[in-house]
Amino acid sequence: MTASPFQVSFEFFPPKPGEGEVSFWSAAKKLETIGPSFVSVTYGAGGTTQARTLATLARLTGETGLSAAGHLTCVGASKDEVNDVIRSYAAAGVRHIVALRGDPPGGVGTRFVPHPEGYRNAADLVRGIRELGAFEVSVSAYPERHPDSVSIEEDLAFMADKADHGASRAISQFFFHNAFFLRLRDRIAARGIKINLVPGILPVTNFARVKEFAAKCGAHIPPDMERRFSGLDQDPETRNLVAAMVAAEQVHELAREGITHFHFYTLNRAELVYAICRVLGLGAPPGNQAAA
Ligand code: FAD
Repeated sequence: MTASPFQVSFEFFPPKPGEGEVSFWSAAKKLETIGPSFVSVTYGAGGTTQARTLATLARLTGETGLSAAGHLTCVGASKDEVNDVIRSYAAAGVRHIVALRGDPPGGVGTRFVPHPEGYRNAADLVRGIRELGAFEVSVSAYPERHPDSVSIEEDLAFMADKADHGASRAISQFFFHNAFFLRLRDRIAARGIKINLVPGILPVTNFARVKEFAAKCGAHIPPDMERRFSGLDQDPETRNLVAAMVAAEQVHELAREGITHFHFYTLNRAELVYAICRVLGLGAPPGNQAAA
């Protein structure tokens, strides 16, 4: 019997105390059994979740066998403030940072103005992180263009800069048309940018909410996906089955194109992501590790 050829990683947001924390830890424990390469914890732009992100990372590194990556944004903060967060991540045992610029305080689509004493953009932040220590650094990628960017070419120039400054992996925004992701992969290769592009997969727990997110970040929803979820708002059981099938189809199609690492946006819920990972052949009990 051979092991699954796939690697996965999981993204969480830092839970609020109470119910949120209970469901976060239950999801993290369940998904730990899948054996992810890493789990990442998001960071509210401008530091809004700083304490919670750090506390969550510290518990993950201290109390689980998971390798934890901390997201970090540079919007609205001086270099000194950002560097202090990098040092606290290191003190908590975090050696992997997902380096991001962050959205301006006015939200997506408003003009980004760097802090007068801050990092200028994500590439500058990557450089700062690498100067402070031997961190692994991941960054963002946008298969359907970042809303601020005038062209895919401009996105690629930013990507090249981030790779040149030491980012080794680019995790993509979620997308539902695989063609956009594969086109970005081809363009990165054609420009000779040395970065490992990993697809960000968003299993659909709530289609209406996903449509809102998608509209904000410019991700297209295929018409057949709309049809598949239509009328299921009050039928969570069927909706979850459909969601698992849609996401499994998406990852299998990408796998046929040679993708072996998938990053899942968990929204702090385990069920769907766990099921999709099992479909990929991951998480089987020891001694029963069949290939997908
Ligand atoms: P960059 O990589 O610096 O820029 C993205 C693109 O915007 C560039 O490719 C370029 O085309 C364009 N652009 C940037 N600056 C300019 C400029 N000055 N002029 C013209 N065009 C420009 N946000 C959070 O707040 N917290 C998180 O934890 C978080 N995690 C994320 C994880 C992933 C995997 C992804 C894909 C996004 C995440 N974001 C997060 C969202 C991110 O902060 C926003 O999309 C933000 O607007 C851009 O940050 P970036 O690091 O992608 O920017």
